Amino acid sequence: MDFDPLATQLIIFIGLLTGTSAFAWGILAYPLGIAPKASARYALANLLVILGLFLSTCRDDSTSYLFWFGADLSLLSGFILLRWGTQQLFKIRDSIRIDCLFLFSVALIMLLFKPHYSANIQLGILFSLATFIIFSQLALDHFIHFKEVKGSNIVIIPITAIALIFFTRAIILLFAPQAEDHLASIAKAEAVPMLWTYIILTLVINIAMFGNALTRLVDKVRSRAEKDYLTGLWNRRAVLLSLDRIHHLWLRNGTRYSVILFDLDYFKKVNDNYGHAAGDAVLKQTANCVNNVIRTTDVLSRYGGEEFLLLLPATNEEEVLLIAQKLKETVSDNSLNWQGEFINVTASFGCATVEKNNSQQELINRADIAMYKAKAAGRDTYYQA
Ligand code: GH3
Ligand code: MG
Ligand code: MG
Repeated sequence: MDFDPLATQLIIFIGLLTGTSAFAWGILAYPLGIAPKASARYALANLLVILGLFLSTCRDDSTSYLFWFGADLSLLSGFILLRWGTQQLFKIRDSIRIDCLFLFSVALIMLLFKPHYSANIQLGILFSLATFIIFSQLALDHFIHFKEVKGSNIVIIPITAIALIFFTRAIILLFAPQAEDHLASIAKAEAVPMLWTYIILTLVINIAMFGNALTRLVDKVRSRAEKDYLTGLWNRRAVLLSLDRIHHLWLRNGTRYSVILFDLDYFKKVNDNYGHAAGDAVLKQTANCVNNVIRTTDVLSRYGGEEFLLLLPATNEEEVLLIAQKLKETVSDNSLNWQGEFINVTASFGCATVEKNNSQQELINRADIAMYKAKAAGRDTYYQA
């Protein structure tokens, strides 16, 4: 193969770029341990791209399975690994089996052609279509994931662009085979624009995946700082921040809000009779069932051991009592089936609605006093401050 000097430089540049990316992902995986499994897959993806690139530069006039099929399959495996890395990152179901089947089918179709320049166009079309399919699936993975977690997802744009570029490449090669030198060769001068495209794509896709990994890391750190590990509810720190926000909204626009503080009754007995694990299960179940009956604007938190604080924006004295009644019934209706035995749970509720000159802490104290009145009144009931 005759190498154009500029094309050669660009190929080396792509090699360096993917090599550096592989190295960076490797560092991220180990020793940094940032999304290690996903990062390792991204590192391997880049390595497979280098391998594929290297093998395709070895093509000459002879027939070679390695330099034709081997090169293309190595590149496609790299793209598939990108997908697996992302699935690992998003914790969504992996598509390893179906992807392997897909790769195997592509390999079988390749066998219909001769691994030689004479089949350059056909193999180019096949490769482009396969790449289009892989990147479309990757875009779909992102779409589904971000729809679920309700995140904004600009990463879909470059991935979809890559899918479309390869689809276009396949179509042009199919209907305008004279474009072969521009699209299906890598060492000729005509290939330079396509090589630049590959450089941009390599950069963009690595940056996009890095963005994903970073977003995931930030989410994880944030959720550790604000969520209770056992119930998944907001923790004390987070609920106090929410309380500040709601309180200032009240000061500004006068919409009164309420809080309910509730504590499980005789919870120590649950631990003593059934063990700590049963106690934990009761806490989780209580959190879940209460979470299911409140409004989306309400803020439910685990305030202490078996004590929960619920913030109710835009709720007055009458409304808070109705909610307390509903929660009392919800908690007592939900007995936990623990290894065949039913554990009945009740709670005592203290309600308080914000009043003039109330500080946030005073409001919570009022709810706390009301709750202790409910305890004193025999538990499984609610009291208003
Ligand atoms: P009361 O009706 O007066 O509230 O009685 P109680 O037994 O619920 O109150 P007490 O404060 O004496 O007991 C609370 C118990 O909650 C003691 C503690 O071991 C348990 N507890 C606190 N946090 C957890 C937890 O995360 N898991 C489990 N299993 N138990 C917890
Ligand atoms: Mg208790
Ligand atoms: Mg308590």
